[in-house]
Amino acid sequence: MFGAIEAGGTKMVVAVGDEKGNILSSGSIATTTPDETIPKILDFFKDHDIEAVGIGAFGPVCLDRTLPDYGRIGQSPKLSWVGFSWIDAFKDTGYDVVIDTDVNVAALGEAVYGSGRGLDDVIYVTIGTGIGVGVYLGGKLLHGMLHPEAGHILIERNASDTFEGSCPYHKNCFEGLAAGPAIEKRYGKSAALLIDDDKVWELEAEYIAKALEAYICCYSPKRIILGGGVMHVEKLFPMIRKKTKEYLGDYIKTPELENIDSYIVPAGCCGSQGIKGALYLAIK
Ligand code: ADP
Ligand code: ZN
Repeated sequence: MFGAIEAGGTKMVVAVGDEKGNILSSGSIATTTPDETIPKILDFFKDHDIEAVGIGAFGPVCLDRTLPDYGRIGQSPKLSWVGFSWIDAFKDTGYDVVIDTDVNVAALGEAVYGSGRGLDDVIYVTIGTGIGVGVYLGGKLLHGMLHPEAGHILIERNASDTFEGSCPYHKNCFEGLAAGPAIEKRYGKSAALLIDDDKVWELEAEYIAKALEAYICCYSPKRIILGGGVMHVEKLFPMIRKKTKEYLGDYIKTPELENIDSYIVPAGCCGSQGIKGALYLAIK
């Protein structure tokens, strides 16, 4: 059996599954402090014959397996978790422990079990409370120096947009201009209540398409999968597809881009991409 943890800021989703990726048992544990939360997680796994555990963790988290800090959480707004080590937490269990970021395991779940099935080069972009991008290239998740933070690329602001941006670090990054909280602060209403206001979604599609143009140029994915709360607004998809093609111009021509409807697609795991990806991390 294999264990999986989707470690989020408010809750930890835990699951046990088999080598085919079937989830056999799952649960949810509140994320409070490591002292409170970790014993509950260990308790969940203890009655199963677990070989390895895959974890999709909120970050920043060290992903370099050659370093002693592998699995350790860095400077995070969740103060009681700063310096916490996922490896140390499991050291008495005998399980193999594999860690990646929350968005990377979601990308893996989508690549293996969801809308990216059969492809080795896909990116998963989640647009919700924040914006995260999981990059899966050549059948591997991209790490590098830390891990990609492609939600914070700078985006050319629309000249009519006077909103100052909601990212404390950057005035005009993608997340600060286009994540759910940015929409809500710009218009002073919850995003779901703005559904009939076309100018809201024209601007949102513009910013998303500008980011996708950059991702296409830099990562050359064979498919782009969009998820997260904001992407519940289905009418964004045709707008994003049209604008992405427009921003690319005729510069990049591929069969994938010709079939843009199957190139920029919604997530396909019904919200379980994170836990499924964490399970696959353990299986692999
Ligand atoms: P998280 O990113 O915290 O995991 P979500 O992906 O659900 O959570 O994203 C939450 C954000 O998505 C909220 O800021 C909200 O504005 C936005 N959101 C959620 N549902 C909708 C919806 N139906 N329409 C538009 N925006 C939505
Ligand atoms: Zn930013």
